[in-house]
Amino acid sequence: MSKLLKAGAVLGGAALAVGGLRWAASSEPRYAPWEKPRFEDFEHRVLVLGGGFAGFNVAKHLCDLSRDREDVGVMVISRDNYLTFWPMVPGIVASDVGVRNIAQPLRRPLIHAGASFRRAEVESVDFEKQVVSAGGQEFPYDHLVLALGAQPSYFGIPGVQEHAINMKGIPDAVAIRNRVIERFEEATLRRGEVSESELTFVVIGAGATGVETAAQLHVLIHEVLGPEYPSINANRFRVYLLDALPHILPELDPGLRRVARGQLSARDIEVMTNALAEEVTESCVKLKDGRQIATENVIWTAGARPNEKLEKFGIPLVEKTNGAKVDEYFRVEGYDNVWAIGDNATVPDGDGGFVPPNAQAAVKEGKLLARNILAEIDGEGLKPFEFKSQGQLIDLGSHFAVNDVFGIKFSGALAAIFWRGTYLVRLESPQNRVRQALDWALEFFSRPTVAQIQNTVDE
Ligand SMILES: Cc1cc2nc3c(=O)[nH]c(=O)nc-3n(C[C@H](O)[C@H](O)[C@H](O)COP(=O)(O)OP(=O)(O)OC[C@H]3O[C@@H](n4cnc5c(N)ncnc54)[C@H](O)[C@@H]3O)c2cc1C
Repeated sequence: MSKLLKAGAVLGGAALAVGGLRWAASSEPRYAPWEKPRFEDFEHRVLVLGGGFAGFNVAKHLCDLSRDREDVGVMVISRDNYLTFWPMVPGIVASDVGVRNIAQPLRRPLIHAGASFRRAEVESVDFEKQVVSAGGQEFPYDHLVLALGAQPSYFGIPGVQEHAINMKGIPDAVAIRNRVIERFEEATLRRGEVSESELTFVVIGAGATGVETAAQLHVLIHEVLGPEYPSINANRFRVYLLDALPHILPELDPGLRRVARGQLSARDIEVMTNALAEEVTESCVKLKDGRQIATENVIWTAGARPNEKLEKFGIPLVEKTNGAKVDEYFRVEGYDNVWAIGDNATVPDGDGGFVPPNAQAAVKEGKLLARNILAEIDGEGLKPFEFKSQGQLIDLGSHFAVNDVFGIKFSGALAAIFWRGTYLVRLESPQNRVRQALDWALEFFSRPTVAQIQNTVDE
C-alpha cells in the first residue's frame, strides 16, 4: 500500500505541475491595464461584498459569462485579500497543508478575469442611494451581492469567547499549532513542573471541523512534534473531543460515524458525546452533568451563525437562522437588485427546508447567481436553485479518511487519497495546487517541519 501511495502521490504531483504550468503560460488576462474601464463607468455595476467561496465564484463566473460584452462591470470588496480554502484549514494544524497553499490570492484571478478588487471592511449599505461604504470610501452599484459568510456563535456559554481559540480561519489554525509547540517547549524547559491542564487540549464541537481539528492535533503531537522532543513523553498530552449531541459527525452516515469514532478512540483521543459544555474558564471546561476537564487549551468549533453585519444593514432575515431571507433565485425579500448567497443567506431548498451552509452550496450558488444576474440584466427568466449534496469527505490525518460520495461510502487510505485528489483540483490557483501536491508527495519521504513563528501566519 505504501508503494502505491508513493507512486500515486508522485504521479499526481507531476501531472498537476505540468497542468499548472500550461495554464499559467496559456491564459490571457481579459483587459490590458490601459484598456480596463473604471468600475463606476460600466452600465451595469455588480458589486460583490465578500471574497469567500460564494463571493469569489459569483464574481468569477459573471466575468466569464460576460467576457464578450462591455456593459457589465464586476467589483469584489473583501476584508481579506485572499480566498481561504476552508476544507484544508484543519490540515494547517499539523503542517500537513501549507498556509500559502490555501490562502489563495484574490486579486490575481479576479483581475485576470476582468473584475476589480478592493480590500476593505464593509461598513454600511444605503439601499436607496445604492451605495456601499467600505474602508471610508463609497461604492455605487446597480446590483448588490451579499456574500459576507458566517461568524462564530457561542450560544451564550460563559468564558468561550475569552478563553477558547476559535477555529475560524487560517490565523486560528496557526495559533493552535503554535500553542502546541509552546507546550512542548515549556515541557522541555520545566519538565515535571508542567501541569496536566497545560498539556490537555479540548476541542468543543464534533462536527466535521471539530473532528478534523482533533485528528490533526493528534498528528501534530505524536507524528510531527513527538520525535523532535525525545525528552518529552508525548502521551502526557491529552486530546478531548466534546459534543452535546449523542454522536459525532451528525450529518454523516451512521456506519462511517462509527468508523471515524473508532479511529479517534484508537488514537487515544477522548471522544465525549452527550457532553454539554456549560462554562469555560482559564483552567477548565465545566460540563452540564457536573464533570470538569482540567485544561488551559480550549478550541471552539461548535457554532456558527450568518454574519451579523446583515442585521445592521436592516435587510429581512429568517428568524430561525438569522440569515438573509431570499427566494429560490437568491433575491433578498423586498429588493429587486439585492442578492444574498453563501453562509450569510438562508436559501430555501424547495422541500420546506434550507440549503446547508457549506462550501459546496456556496460555490454552486455563486455560479447560478452569476447566470441569474445576467438574465435579470437582459430581461430573461431566472433559474431556481436546486441543491443536491455530493456527500461529505472527512480527513482524519495519518492517511485515513471517511468519505460519502453520492451515497458511496468508503474509508481508509484510499479514501484519504480520494480526499486529497478531490480538494487539490478544487484549489483555485494552479501554483497552489502544484505546491501542495509536491508537499504531499514529499511527506512520504520525510515528516513536515514546523517552526513556531509568533504573531504571523507566514511560512
Ligand atoms: C475550519 C472550517 C472548515 C470547513 N471545511 C469545510 C469543508 O470541508 N467542506 C465544506 O463544504 N464546508 C466547509 N466549511 C464551511 C465553508 O467554509 C463555508 O460554508 C463557506 O466558506 C461559505 O462560503 P461564504 O463565501 O459564504 O463564506 P466565506 O468563505 O467565509 O467568505 C466570507 C467572506 O466575507 C468577507 N467578509 C466578512 N465580513 C466582512 C466585512 N465586514 N467586510 C468585508 N469583507 C468581509 C471575508 O473576508 C470572506 O472573504 C468549513 C468551515 C470552517 C470554518
